[in-house]
Amino acid sequence: MQDWKRALSQAHTHPNRVLEATGRSTLPEPTARALTQSFAVRVPDYYLSLIDPNDPADPIALQCLPQAEELLTFDTDLLDAVGDELRSPVPGIVRKHENRVILLVSNTCTMYCRFCFRRPVAPGHAVEGLRDKLSQAFDYLARETRIQEVILSGGDPLTLDDESLKQLVSQLKQLPHIRLLRVHTRAPVTLPTRVTPSLVEVLREAQPLYVVTHFNHPRELSPLARERLTWLREAGIPLLNQTVLLRGVNDSVETLASLCWELLTLGVTPYYLHHCDRTPGTGPFRVSLARGQALFQALKQRLPGHGLPRYTLDIPGGLGKISLEPPYVRPLAPGLWELTSPSGETVTYPDEDEPDLPFLHTRSRELER
Ligand SMILES: *Cc1c(COP(=O)(O)O)cnc(C)c1O
Ligand code: SF4
Repeated sequence: MQDWKRALSQAHTHPNRVLEATGRSTLPEPTARALTQSFAVRVPDYYLSLIDPNDPADPIALQCLPQAEELLTFDTDLLDAVGDELRSPVPGIVRKHENRVILLVSNTCTMYCRFCFRRPVAPGHAVEGLRDKLSQAFDYLARETRIQEVILSGGDPLTLDDESLKQLVSQLKQLPHIRLLRVHTRAPVTLPTRVTPSLVEVLREAQPLYVVTHFNHPRELSPLARERLTWLREAGIPLLNQTVLLRGVNDSVETLASLCWELLTLGVTPYYLHHCDRTPGTGPFRVSLARGQALFQALKQRLPGHGLPRYTLDIPGGLGKISLEPPYVRPLAPGLWELTSPSGETVTYPDEDEPDLPFLHTRSRELER
């Protein structure tokens, strides 16, 4: 068995085992069960090893450790926060643009990030007949000849093995109108051993292809992650990165600037800084739009033009991503905004003050003593 497959099969999937492994106190069993039912838990040992045991508010821990606050709901939660279900012409495809689509090729991830906006559509929950769904999706891609770029997403496409990926790519390459492929993945962050020489070869042969990674914090750029990014880059694969703005993880200009600089020196271009979507369960991570905008203004001073990510929000109703800058975003009242979609439609967006939640670190054993 390849290293990464073994690591995945050994990853912790019970909330209390993950908490114990990091020296934290466990949750009552009913809470632990409710958590796994709301969103599966999976954390590879590698990602746990990045946690600094001396930091009670560790940004790595916050991203992977299940916390009881995920069960809280807020009035402004949105079940289909980004409108993907509304914009799915056939199962497995999300289309918000004429010439590019998302193809959902996997329903699992190398780790389940606690802030994930896809949690209600449930990576980690079994999806029946993924193969069937994909064949419908391929028929759609074959007849929609205006589609020029296919974005492989999920879940995480790199949970597929190399052979399945190779087959998928070769099916896509048979469609002459598809000019570009993109792979959105968090595997280089949460399980860098997934980037094997044979995977690099599959991706190299699939060019023109972009890989979009998902680093949220500079400490995720471990020596191993750096090595594997370098393998991809040396194979000539262009690398972009998207980051989600997360409270307690990277909501400071120092952290964001340092992340972008580190990425730039590795040949990875910061692409998007996503405002956190209002998916139920992500309440603990939300940064207010007002604070997000102030952070982004400060970030502009700290980065070269080619290293500044775009600060965006995938707006509700399936209307697509917008740049969170005037004139697309306009304050109406404290905590209430008007957003304008690329096609000129407006939506009112409630963005309440950041909830004052007890955070994970208050449960660390050290603090309880
Ligand atoms: C984000 C997204 C894309 C890609 O948009 P880019 O701006 O090209 O990165 C494509 N389709 C959907 C449905 C998306 O949400
Ligand atoms: S890897 Fe992406 S899709 Fe999977 S849980 Fe993390 S954020 Fe969600």
